[in-house]
Amino acid sequence: MEKVILIRFGEIFLKGNNRYVFENLLIRNIKEALEGIGCEVERSRARFWIKNFSDAEEVRVIERLIKVFGIHSISSALMVKTDIGAIFEASEKFIRQGTFKVITARADKGFELNSMQVSQKIGGMLLKKHPFLKVDVHKPDFTINIDIREGGYTFVFSDYVKGADGLPCGSAGKGLLLLSGGIDSPVAGYMLSRRGLKLDAIHFYSYPYTSELAKQKVITLCEKLSAYNGKTTLYVVPFTEIQEEIHKNCAQNYMITLMRRFMMRIAEKVAIKAGASALVNGENLGQVASQTMESIFVTNSAVSMPVFRPLIGFDKLDIIEIAQKIGTYETSILPYEDCCTVFLPQNPVIKPRLDFTLRQEAKLDVERLETAAISNMEVIVAKRP
Ligand code: ATP
Ligand code: MG
Repeated sequence: MEKVILIRFGEIFLKGNNRYVFENLLIRNIKEALEGIGCEVERSRARFWIKNFSDAEEVRVIERLIKVFGIHSISSALMVKTDIGAIFEASEKFIRQGTFKVITARADKGFELNSMQVSQKIGGMLLKKHPFLKVDVHKPDFTINIDIREGGYTFVFSDYVKGADGLPCGSAGKGLLLLSGGIDSPVAGYMLSRRGLKLDAIHFYSYPYTSELAKQKVITLCEKLSAYNGKTTLYVVPFTEIQEEIHKNCAQNYMITLMRRFMMRIAEKVAIKAGASALVNGENLGQVASQTMESIFVTNSAVSMPVFRPLIGFDKLDIIEIAQKIGTYETSILPYEDCCTVFLPQNPVIKPRLDFTLRQEAKLDVERLETAAISNMEVIVAKRP
Protein backbone atom coordinates (compact mmCIF):
# COMPACT_ATOMS: atom_id res chain seq x y z
CA MET A 1 0.00 0.00 0.00
CA GLU A 2 1.55 3.25 -1.09
CA LYS A 3 0.56 6.80 -0.20
CA VAL A 4 0.14 8.93 -3.32
CA ILE A 5 -1.47 12.13 -4.52
CA LEU A 6 -3.73 11.32 -7.42
CA ILE A 7 -4.15 13.87 -10.19
CA ARG A 8 -7.06 13.94 -12.65
CA PHE A 9 -7.03 16.20 -15.64
CA GLY A 10 -9.81 17.68 -17.70
CA GLU A 11 -11.21 15.34 -20.31
CA ILE A 12 -11.52 18.01 -22.99
CA PHE A 13 -7.94 18.00 -24.11
CA LEU A 14 -7.57 14.25 -23.98
CA LYS A 15 -9.60 13.65 -27.07
CA GLY A 16 -7.67 14.85 -30.13
CA ASN A 17 -4.27 13.93 -31.45
CA ASN A 18 -2.82 16.65 -29.29
CA ARG A 19 -3.34 14.57 -26.23
CA TYR A 20 0.30 13.64 -25.75
CA VAL A 21 1.49 17.18 -26.32
CA PHE A 22 -0.86 18.38 -23.58
CA GLU A 23 0.04 15.55 -21.24
CA ASN A 24 3.76 16.06 -21.65
CA LEU A 25 3.41 19.77 -21.00
CA LEU A 26 1.29 19.13 -17.95
CA ILE A 27 3.85 16.69 -16.56
CA ARG A 28 6.60 19.23 -17.17
CA ASN A 29 4.60 21.97 -15.44
CA ILE A 30 3.83 19.69 -12.49
CA LYS A 31 7.51 18.85 -12.10
CA GLU A 32 8.42 22.53 -12.22
CA ALA A 33 5.74 23.37 -9.66
CA LEU A 34 7.06 20.72 -7.29
CA GLU A 35 10.70 21.76 -7.60
CA GLY A 36 12.38 21.77 -4.22
CA ILE A 37 10.01 19.18 -2.74
CA GLY A 38 11.33 15.63 -2.56
CA CYS A 39 8.88 13.49 -4.56
CA GLU A 40 8.38 11.70 -7.88
CA VAL A 41 5.76 12.03 -10.59
CA GLU A 42 4.33 8.91 -12.24
CA ARG A 43 1.94 8.64 -15.14
CA SER A 44 -0.33 6.20 -16.86
CA ARG A 45 -3.21 6.54 -19.27
CA ALA A 46 -5.53 9.26 -17.93
CA ARG A 47 -3.95 9.50 -14.47
CA PHE A 48 -0.86 11.05 -12.94
CA TRP A 49 0.22 10.60 -9.36
CA ILE A 50 2.87 11.89 -7.00
CA LYS A 51 4.74 9.45 -4.78
CA ASN A 52 7.66 9.26 -2.37
CA PHE A 53 6.90 12.49 -0.51
CA SER A 54 7.13 12.86 3.26
CA ASP A 55 3.97 13.30 5.35
CA ALA A 56 5.16 16.78 6.27
CA GLU A 57 5.30 17.78 2.59
CA GLU A 58 1.87 16.51 1.60
CA VAL A 59 0.06 19.81 2.16
CA ARG A 60 2.72 21.72 0.23
CA VAL A 61 2.44 19.33 -2.70
CA ILE A 62 -1.33 19.83 -2.82
CA GLU A 63 -1.07 23.62 -2.42
CA ARG A 64 1.22 23.78 -5.42
CA LEU A 65 -0.73 21.37 -7.58
CA ILE A 66 -4.00 23.27 -7.22
CA LYS A 67 -2.34 26.17 -9.07
CA VAL A 68 -1.20 24.09 -12.04
CA PHE A 69 -3.52 24.68 -15.00
CA GLY A 70 -4.92 21.59 -16.66
CA ILE A 71 -5.53 19.74 -13.39
CA HIS A 72 -9.19 19.11 -12.68
CA SER A 73 -8.95 17.58 -9.22
CA ILE A 74 -6.57 16.02 -6.72
CA SER A 75 -6.95 13.38 -4.01
CA SER A 76 -4.76 12.06 -1.24
CA ALA A 77 -5.00 8.36 -2.05
CA LEU A 78 -3.62 4.94 -1.31
CA MET A 79 -2.40 2.91 -4.24
CA VAL A 80 -2.76 -0.87 -3.98
CA LYS A 81 -2.72 -3.98 -6.12
CA THR A 82 -6.11 -4.65 -7.66
CA ASP A 83 -7.17 -7.27 -5.16
CA ILE A 84 -10.22 -7.21 -2.89
CA GLY A 85 -8.18 -7.82 0.28
CA ALA A 86 -5.79 -4.98 -0.50
CA ILE A 87 -8.59 -2.60 -1.54
CA PHE A 88 -10.44 -3.37 1.70
CA GLU A 89 -7.37 -2.69 3.82
CA ALA A 90 -6.86 0.66 2.09
CA SER A 91 -10.56 1.52 2.44
CA GLU A 92 -10.35 1.03 6.19
CA LYS A 93 -7.80 3.86 6.39
CA PHE A 94 -10.43 6.33 5.22
CA ILE A 95 -13.29 5.51 7.57
CA ARG A 96 -14.59 8.31 9.77
CA GLN A 97 -17.60 8.74 12.01
CA GLY A 98 -21.04 8.61 10.48
CA THR A 99 -22.62 7.24 7.35
CA PHE A 100 -20.77 6.27 4.23
CA LYS A 101 -21.06 5.07 0.67
CA VAL A 102 -18.62 3.22 -1.57
CA ILE A 103 -18.25 4.47 -5.15
CA THR A 104 -16.26 2.39 -7.61
CA ALA A 105 -15.04 3.29 -11.07
CA ARG A 106 -13.48 0.53 -13.15
CA ALA A 107 -11.27 1.37 -16.11
CA ASP A 108 -9.96 -2.22 -16.05
CA LYS A 109 -12.86 -4.13 -17.55
CA GLY A 110 -10.90 -7.35 -17.11
CA PHE A 111 -11.28 -7.33 -13.33
CA GLU A 112 -13.55 -10.16 -12.18
CA LEU A 113 -16.08 -7.92 -10.36
CA ASN A 114 -17.90 -5.00 -11.91
CA SER A 115 -18.10 -1.58 -10.22
CA MET A 116 -21.36 -2.31 -8.44
CA GLN A 117 -20.10 -5.63 -7.14
CA VAL A 118 -16.86 -4.09 -5.83
CA SER A 119 -18.81 -1.36 -3.98
CA GLN A 120 -21.15 -3.92 -2.45
CA LYS A 121 -18.35 -6.24 -1.46
CA ILE A 122 -16.17 -3.56 0.16
CA GLY A 123 -19.21 -1.89 1.78
CA GLY A 124 -20.25 -5.22 3.25
CA MET A 125 -16.78 -5.98 4.58
CA LEU A 126 -16.52 -2.53 6.20
CA LEU A 127 -19.93 -2.88 7.89
CA LYS A 128 -19.05 -6.29 9.22
CA LYS A 129 -15.72 -5.28 10.72
CA HIS A 130 -16.78 -1.82 11.96
CA PRO A 131 -20.31 -2.15 13.35
CA PHE A 132 -20.57 1.55 14.22
CA LEU A 133 -20.68 2.38 10.47
CA LYS A 134 -23.90 2.84 8.52
CA VAL A 135 -24.53 3.10 4.82
CA ASP A 136 -26.36 6.09 3.36
CA VAL A 137 -26.33 6.09 -0.42
CA HIS A 138 -28.09 9.46 -0.72
CA LYS A 139 -26.38 11.77 1.77
CA PRO A 140 -23.34 9.98 3.20
CA ASP A 141 -21.07 11.77 5.67
CA PHE A 142 -18.10 10.42 3.74
CA THR A 143 -17.41 8.31 0.68
CA ILE A 144 -14.84 5.66 -0.08
CA ASN A 145 -13.83 6.00 -3.71
CA ILE A 146 -12.24 3.10 -5.53
CA ASP A 147 -10.60 3.76 -8.90
CA ILE A 148 -9.60 0.50 -10.57
CA ARG A 149 -7.06 1.20 -13.31
CA GLU A 150 -5.74 -0.89 -16.17
CA GLY A 151 -2.41 -2.50 -15.30
CA GLY A 152 -3.47 -4.18 -12.07
CA TYR A 153 -3.49 -1.32 -9.58
CA THR A 154 -6.22 0.63 -7.80
CA PHE A 155 -6.46 4.01 -6.08
CA VAL A 156 -8.54 4.32 -2.93
CA PHE A 157 -9.42 7.77 -1.55
CA SER A 158 -12.10 9.75 0.16
CA ASP A 159 -11.91 13.44 -0.80
CA TYR A 160 -11.53 15.55 -3.90
CA VAL A 161 -9.64 18.85 -3.88
CA LYS A 162 -10.62 21.12 -6.75
CA GLY A 163 -7.85 21.94 -9.22
CA ALA A 164 -7.38 25.14 -11.26
CA ASP A 165 -8.76 23.56 -14.47
CA GLY A 166 -7.88 25.43 -17.68
CA LEU A 167 -5.27 24.20 -20.15
CA PRO A 168 -1.62 23.41 -19.44
CA CYS A 169 0.37 26.61 -19.44
CA GLY A 170 2.31 26.79 -22.70
CA SER A 171 -0.12 24.71 -24.73
CA ALA A 172 -1.41 27.84 -26.49
CA GLY A 173 2.05 29.30 -27.11
CA LYS A 174 3.69 32.32 -25.57
CA GLY A 175 2.42 35.82 -24.79
CA LEU A 176 3.82 38.99 -23.25
CA LEU A 177 1.85 40.56 -20.39
CA LEU A 178 1.99 44.31 -19.84
CA LEU A 179 2.23 44.24 -16.08
CA SER A 180 1.62 47.43 -14.12
CA GLY A 181 1.47 47.51 -10.36
CA GLY A 182 -2.33 47.71 -10.48
CA ILE A 183 -5.12 45.26 -9.78
CA ASP A 184 -6.09 44.43 -13.34
CA SER A 185 -3.03 43.32 -15.24
CA PRO A 186 -2.06 40.44 -12.91
CA VAL A 187 -5.62 39.15 -13.22
CA ALA A 188 -5.47 39.47 -17.02
CA GLY A 189 -2.25 37.44 -16.96
CA TYR A 190 -3.77 34.77 -14.76
CA MET A 191 -6.73 34.39 -17.09
CA LEU A 192 -4.70 33.85 -20.23
CA SER A 193 -2.12 31.68 -18.54
CA ARG A 194 -5.14 29.56 -17.60
CA ARG A 195 -6.04 29.31 -21.29
CA GLY A 196 -2.61 27.88 -22.03
CA LEU A 197 -0.50 30.97 -22.78
CA LYS A 198 2.94 30.87 -21.20
CA LEU A 199 3.61 34.46 -20.21
CA ASP A 200 6.61 36.68 -20.00
CA ALA A 201 5.90 40.07 -18.43
CA ILE A 202 7.03 43.60 -19.24
CA HIS A 203 6.94 46.56 -16.89
CA PHE A 204 7.68 50.21 -17.62
CA TYR A 205 9.02 52.28 -14.76
CA SER A 206 10.06 55.87 -14.32
CA TYR A 207 12.93 55.93 -11.90
CA PRO A 208 13.55 58.28 -10.07
CA TYR A 209 9.94 59.55 -10.34
CA THR A 210 8.76 56.16 -9.18
CA SER A 211 10.63 54.50 -6.34
CA GLU A 212 12.56 51.27 -6.09
CA LEU A 213 9.62 50.01 -3.99
CA ALA A 214 7.25 50.41 -6.94
CA LYS A 215 9.50 48.17 -8.99
CA GLN A 216 9.79 45.65 -6.17
CA LYS A 217 6.00 45.54 -6.01
CA VAL A 218 5.86 44.46 -9.65
CA ILE A 219 8.51 41.80 -9.04
CA THR A 220 6.38 40.49 -6.17
CA LEU A 221 3.31 40.39 -8.42
CA CYS A 222 5.29 38.50 -11.00
CA GLU A 223 6.44 36.00 -8.39
CA LYS A 224 2.85 35.45 -7.33
CA LEU A 225 1.83 34.90 -10.94
CA SER A 226 4.63 32.40 -11.37
CA ALA A 227 2.83 30.01 -9.02
CA TYR A 228 0.41 29.57 -11.94
CA ASN A 229 2.54 30.48 -14.93
CA GLY A 230 5.78 28.78 -13.90
CA LYS A 231 9.05 30.67 -13.91
CA THR A 232 8.29 34.04 -15.45
CA THR A 233 10.73 36.32 -17.22
CA LEU A 234 10.10 39.96 -16.36
CA TYR A 235 11.48 42.72 -18.57
CA VAL A 236 11.79 46.00 -16.70
CA VAL A 237 12.03 48.89 -19.14
CA PRO A 238 13.16 52.39 -18.12
CA PHE A 239 10.51 54.82 -19.31
CA THR A 240 11.63 58.13 -17.86
CA GLU A 241 13.33 59.56 -20.93
CA ILE A 242 10.35 58.79 -23.14
CA GLN A 243 7.97 60.45 -20.69
CA GLU A 244 10.17 63.51 -20.38
CA GLU A 245 10.43 63.85 -24.15
CA ILE A 246 6.67 63.58 -24.62
CA HIS A 247 6.14 66.04 -21.79
CA LYS A 248 8.57 68.52 -23.33
CA ASN A 249 7.43 68.28 -26.95
CA CYS A 250 3.83 67.13 -27.28
CA ALA A 251 0.28 68.21 -26.44
CA GLN A 252 -0.20 67.61 -22.72
CA ASN A 253 -3.68 66.17 -23.02
CA TYR A 254 -2.26 63.44 -25.29
CA MET A 255 0.42 62.44 -22.76
CA ILE A 256 -1.22 59.16 -21.77
CA THR A 257 -2.21 58.23 -25.31
CA LEU A 258 1.34 58.75 -26.52
CA MET A 259 2.84 56.88 -23.56
CA ARG A 260 0.55 53.95 -24.16
CA ARG A 261 1.57 53.74 -27.79
CA PHE A 262 5.23 53.67 -26.77
CA MET A 263 4.48 50.90 -24.29
CA MET A 264 2.71 48.86 -26.93
CA ARG A 265 5.41 49.28 -29.56
CA ILE A 266 8.21 48.45 -27.14
CA ALA A 267 6.22 45.48 -25.85
CA GLU A 268 5.75 44.22 -29.39
CA LYS A 269 9.47 44.46 -30.12
CA VAL A 270 10.38 42.68 -26.88
CA ALA A 271 7.71 40.05 -27.57
CA ILE A 272 9.18 39.27 -30.96
CA LYS A 273 12.64 38.87 -29.42
CA ALA A 274 11.23 36.63 -26.69
CA GLY A 275 9.35 34.43 -29.15
CA ALA A 276 5.93 35.62 -27.96
CA SER A 277 3.18 36.16 -30.48
CA ALA A 278 0.52 38.07 -28.55
CA LEU A 279 0.35 40.94 -26.08
CA VAL A 280 -1.89 40.80 -23.00
CA ASN A 281 -3.08 43.78 -20.99
CA GLY A 282 -5.58 44.57 -18.26
CA GLU A 283 -7.69 47.09 -20.16
CA ASN A 284 -11.33 47.31 -19.27
CA LEU A 285 -13.82 49.22 -21.37
CA GLY A 286 -14.69 52.64 -20.00
CA GLN A 287 -12.82 52.31 -16.71
CA VAL A 288 -10.69 55.42 -17.25
CA ALA A 289 -10.00 57.99 -19.98
CA SER A 290 -7.31 55.80 -21.53
CA GLN A 291 -9.78 52.94 -21.91
CA THR A 292 -12.53 54.39 -24.03
CA MET A 293 -13.09 52.75 -27.40
CA GLU A 294 -11.34 55.64 -29.13
CA SER A 295 -8.32 55.36 -26.82
CA ILE A 296 -8.10 51.63 -27.29
CA PHE A 297 -8.29 52.13 -31.06
CA VAL A 298 -5.47 54.66 -31.11
CA THR A 299 -3.29 52.61 -28.75
CA ASN A 300 -3.97 49.43 -30.63
CA SER A 301 -3.03 51.05 -33.94
CA ALA A 302 0.58 51.27 -32.76
CA VAL A 303 1.08 47.51 -33.13
CA SER A 304 0.10 44.69 -35.43
CA MET A 305 0.45 41.79 -33.00
CA PRO A 306 -2.83 40.57 -31.53
CA VAL A 307 -3.60 42.19 -28.18
CA PHE A 308 -5.63 40.11 -25.75
CA ARG A 309 -7.74 42.01 -23.22
CA PRO A 310 -9.43 39.32 -21.15
CA LEU A 311 -10.96 41.85 -18.72
CA ILE A 312 -12.56 44.06 -21.33
CA GLY A 313 -16.12 43.30 -20.26
CA PHE A 314 -15.64 42.70 -16.55
CA ASP A 315 -16.98 44.74 -13.66
CA LYS A 316 -14.30 46.03 -11.31
CA LEU A 317 -15.72 44.05 -8.40
CA ASP A 318 -15.43 40.82 -10.37
CA ILE A 319 -11.80 41.62 -11.16
CA ILE A 320 -11.11 42.31 -7.48
CA GLU A 321 -12.67 39.00 -6.54
CA ILE A 322 -10.30 37.13 -8.86
CA ALA A 323 -7.34 39.20 -7.64
CA GLN A 324 -8.19 38.15 -4.08
CA LYS A 325 -8.60 34.52 -5.04
CA ILE A 326 -5.22 34.35 -6.79
CA GLY A 327 -3.46 36.30 -4.03
CA THR A 328 -2.34 39.37 -6.01
CA TYR A 329 -4.83 41.87 -4.55
CA GLU A 330 -2.99 42.70 -1.34
CA THR A 331 0.17 43.49 -3.32
CA SER A 332 -1.67 45.48 -5.99
CA ILE A 333 -3.24 47.84 -3.48
CA LEU A 334 0.09 48.83 -1.93
CA PRO A 335 0.24 52.57 -2.44
CA TYR A 336 3.34 52.99 -4.65
CA GLU A 337 2.95 55.24 -7.65
CA ASP A 338 2.74 53.96 -11.22
CA CYS A 339 4.71 55.58 -14.02
CA CYS A 340 1.46 56.74 -15.65
CA THR A 341 0.49 58.78 -12.62
CA VAL A 342 3.74 60.72 -12.65
CA PHE A 343 3.03 62.83 -15.71
CA LEU A 344 -0.73 62.64 -15.48
CA PRO A 345 -2.16 65.65 -17.36
CA GLN A 346 -4.97 67.79 -15.94
CA ASN A 347 -7.36 66.92 -18.74
CA PRO A 348 -6.43 63.74 -20.55
CA VAL A 349 -8.17 63.42 -23.90
CA ILE A 350 -11.09 61.01 -23.71
CA LYS A 351 -11.60 60.53 -27.42
CA PRO A 352 -8.13 60.83 -28.95
CA ARG A 353 -7.78 61.11 -32.72
CA LEU A 354 -5.27 59.03 -34.61
CA ASP A 355 -4.22 61.74 -37.08
CA PHE A 356 -3.50 64.22 -34.29
CA THR A 357 -1.64 61.52 -32.33
CA LEU A 358 0.57 60.76 -35.31
CA ARG A 359 1.41 64.45 -35.73
CA GLN A 360 2.44 64.61 -32.08
CA GLU A 361 4.54 61.50 -32.42
CA ALA A 362 6.30 62.98 -35.45
CA LYS A 363 7.87 65.54 -33.11
CA LEU A 364 9.82 62.77 -31.38
CA ASP A 365 12.67 60.52 -32.40
CA VAL A 366 10.57 57.44 -31.69
CA GLU A 367 13.08 54.95 -33.04
CA ARG A 368 15.99 56.24 -30.98
CA LEU A 369 13.94 56.50 -27.76
CA GLU A 370 12.69 52.95 -28.13
CA THR A 371 16.05 51.49 -28.94
CA ALA A 372 17.57 53.24 -25.92
CA ALA A 373 14.83 51.99 -23.60
CA ILE A 374 15.14 48.41 -24.83
CA SER A 375 18.91 48.38 -24.61
CA ASN A 376 18.70 49.53 -20.98
CA MET A 377 16.02 47.08 -19.91
CA GLU A 378 16.66 44.73 -17.05
CA VAL A 379 15.73 41.04 -17.26
CA ILE A 380 14.56 39.34 -14.08
CA VAL A 381 13.41 35.75 -13.69
CA ALA A 382 10.61 35.58 -11.14
CA LYS A 383 9.97 32.36 -9.26
CA ARG A 384 7.32 31.46 -6.74
CA PRO A 385 8.27 33.08 -3.39
P1 ATP B 1 -4.00 47.98 -13.91
O1 ATP B 1 -4.84 47.76 -12.71
O2 ATP B 1 -3.55 46.72 -14.58
O3 ATP B 1 -2.86 48.95 -13.66
P2 ATP B 1 -5.60 50.11 -14.79
O4 ATP B 1 -7.05 49.93 -14.64
O5 ATP B 1 -4.86 50.92 -13.82
O6 ATP B 1 -4.94 48.68 -14.96
P3 ATP B 1 -4.33 51.60 -16.88
O7 ATP B 1 -3.42 52.24 -15.92
O8 ATP B 1 -5.08 52.41 -17.87
O9 ATP B 1 -5.44 50.70 -16.25
O10 ATP B 1 -3.50 50.51 -17.69
C1 ATP B 1 -4.09 49.69 -18.64
C2 ATP B 1 -3.16 48.54 -18.93
O11 ATP B 1 -1.93 49.02 -19.49
C3 ATP B 1 -2.75 47.81 -17.69
O12 ATP B 1 -3.69 46.84 -17.33
C4 ATP B 1 -1.44 47.20 -18.11
O13 ATP B 1 -1.65 46.03 -18.87
C5 ATP B 1 -0.84 48.27 -19.00
N1 ATP B 1 0.06 49.14 -18.20
C6 ATP B 1 -0.23 50.29 -17.58
N2 ATP B 1 0.85 50.80 -16.94
C7 ATP B 1 1.86 49.92 -17.17
C8 ATP B 1 3.25 49.87 -16.79
N3 ATP B 1 3.81 50.80 -16.02
N4 ATP B 1 3.98 48.81 -17.21
C9 ATP B 1 3.42 47.84 -17.97
N5 ATP B 1 2.14 47.85 -18.36
C10 ATP B 1 1.36 48.87 -17.97
MG1 MG C 1 -2.83 51.02 -13.52
